[in-house]
Amino acid sequence: MVCVVTKAAPLAAAARPEIRVALAGNPNAGKTTVFNAITGARQHVGNYPGVTVEKKEGERTVGDAFVHVVDLPGTYSLTAYSLEEVVARNYVIDERPDVVIDVVDASNLERNLYLTTQFIELGVSVVVCLNMVDMAESMGRSIDTELLSELLGVPVVATVASKSEGVEELLTVAIQTARDGHGAARDVRYGRELEEHITELVELLEGAGGLPGVPSRWVAIKLLEDDQEVCGDVARDVPGGEELLDHVVRIRAHLEAVVGDDAELALADRRYGFINGACAEAVTSSAEEAVDWTERIDRVVTSRVLGIPIFLILMWGMFELVFRFGAPPMGWLESGFGWLGTQAAAWLPDGPLQSLLVDGIIGGVGGVLIFVPQIMLLFLVISLFEDSGYMSRAAFVVDKLMHHIGLHGKSFIPMLIGFGCTVPAIMATRTLESRRDRLTTMLVTPLMSCGARLPVYVLLTGAFFAPQLAGKVIFSIYVLGVLLAVLMARIFRSTILTGPLTPFVMELPPYRMPTLMGTLLHMWERAWCYIRKAGTMILAASVVIWALLSYPTPPAGFDLQGEPEIAYTVAGRLGRVIEPVIRPLGFDWKIGISLTAGMAAKEVVVATLATTYSIEESEETGSTAVREAMRRDPIFTPLVAYVLMVFVLIYPPCLAAMAVLWRESGSWKWLAFAVAYTTTLAWLVSFIVYQGGRALGLG
Ligand code: GDP
Ligand code: MG
Repeated sequence: MVCVVTKAAPLAAAARPEIRVALAGNPNAGKTTVFNAITGARQHVGNYPGVTVEKKEGERTVGDAFVHVVDLPGTYSLTAYSLEEVVARNYVIDERPDVVIDVVDASNLERNLYLTTQFIELGVSVVVCLNMVDMAESMGRSIDTELLSELLGVPVVATVASKSEGVEELLTVAIQTARDGHGAARDVRYGRELEEHITELVELLEGAGGLPGVPSRWVAIKLLEDDQEVCGDVARDVPGGEELLDHVVRIRAHLEAVVGDDAELALADRRYGFINGACAEAVTSSAEEAVDWTERIDRVVTSRVLGIPIFLILMWGMFELVFRFGAPPMGWLESGFGWLGTQAAAWLPDGPLQSLLVDGIIGGVGGVLIFVPQIMLLFLVISLFEDSGYMSRAAFVVDKLMHHIGLHGKSFIPMLIGFGCTVPAIMATRTLESRRDRLTTMLVTPLMSCGARLPVYVLLTGAFFAPQLAGKVIFSIYVLGVLLAVLMARIFRSTILTGPLTPFVMELPPYRMPTLMGTLLHMWERAWCYIRKAGTMILAASVVIWALLSYPTPPAGFDLQGEPEIAYTVAGRLGRVIEPVIRPLGFDWKIGISLTAGMAAKEVVVATLATTYSIEESEETGSTAVREAMRRDPIFTPLVAYVLMVFVLIYPPCLAAMAVLWRESGSWKWLAFAVAYTTTLAWLVSFIVYQGGRALGLG
């Protein structure tokens, strides 16, 4: 090759703004071809200082810009494994080119984008040169450049460097990017576990001043990868660096125990997940390509035609499993608590103590604990979905649908978890990067009917609907919740939380066989939360509510004017105050008491109804007796029972969920807003259902 060295005169160079461009990319991606197409003959060859790696430089004048180009050695990654990688990385970090053109082989996109994610992480201005699109096309792959650019957050220019196609545009975009920066490039997110450690390290690094010229997030990730160069720099340049490194060793050991892989593999997995997700959206392929298992399964599971049906079948299977297999053990627990109540009633003399124990504690806490089997099954399935990697696919599949309501597929995961419990669901919104998306999701997630509301539905359908109808009635409530969530999300996104839908990559990490231990642990952790709630908050609430429902007692000879004794108690009077507000919904003061008490936790609605009706009846206890008593109460009709379910579905979530909403939204104002909007919505929808039902003659 003839290399003509043309040194620009120093004066001329100084007069024109110089833009320094570095060409990077995998070996054989076409860097040198792009380099030649840009610089023509104006190039010279040397070595990087101190090493024998060849360094090619060249110049080119575009308009008023003097462009200086360096062809970096070809690398697959920016780790410190090979000399080429170290040279390329150090050049970018130390010389700070104004823009890095990352030459990517379009016919081998997944593998090539790995390097791209690393440049983005390093915080440099990147332009992706999507080269060899001719090859990709001949393989039957077409790539949506614009979408890819949106997903990565960096400009992407398609080229066929060997024919110089697209190179001029690439140069223009690169100059533009060098001048303006490329805006917000999208980082790979490494999942909850890894992100926690990254955040922790970033804080430690920032506290110590960090490393000059590189983002602390990048340093933190490199430390987790045990990158020897970066470890050395931290030990040398960061105050307290040695202790920091000791801490990193501990984190790595912890990660290995939790993730089962070393940290490097876990990080690489997530990067490929990010890339897979981006490619699944931006690449359409018409030809058969050699693929691995994950891809083969994904072809079916995330396909446009089968994706949604498969998802629906799995959802249906989940509910089927939960309700069919959960029913028998629930029956055993129910008789168990019934037996316990009878025993306690026999052991203790009649009086307040017996009533407290039997009606208050056993009735209240027992009424909640009988649902543990269902809750465990629900969490079992959700854990399996999460741990196997299917949850990400479900989110991917519904992503397009979710866009219609102004949300991402990612918001779908918290909503799905919301069927189990709103508390972990709200916490799961942490995976959403945009605050608006996060807030919208947090606000509508409580409308996904959680496990705690199930007891209310079961009690009411059991009392007022034929067994063949009960399942359909409950299902309609779940569907109503989903529809309202969709509606409210749309409303929020177009009023108080407006803004463009920030595109981001839906990660598709490789499938994994969930481990038995991991799945059982996840299931147990969540079920234990539920049980603990029953043992603490609900126990306390049951006692308080029992007291409010029992005292004060009317003095001897007091004329109750045909009202039950309970009307004289604190709760009875409180119920009277609320009654006018809920009268238009068909509710009376007794229902008002349960609903008020249910603000603590939805299960308490059942506990309170049980206590109210068993205190009032003061005869036999047990849920059959409660159902009988409710049926005898003239206020209840099937329509009122249904409206009550609707109200319980929508009105504010339990105290625990509210506390989490407060913490995660970072402001009590959002909590206040959530409470206000759910209460209003509950009243409105209940009103429409009740009055509509009556107009149809269903009252
Ligand atoms: P480098 O290792 O990244 O510097 O890659 P090279 O520039 O040496 O290119 C490797 C091979 O790919 C050469 O044979 C080029 O002619 C060829 N090549 C480069 N760009 C294209 C392209 O856009 N389309 C096709 N079909 N071949 C290309
Ligand atoms: Mg080359």
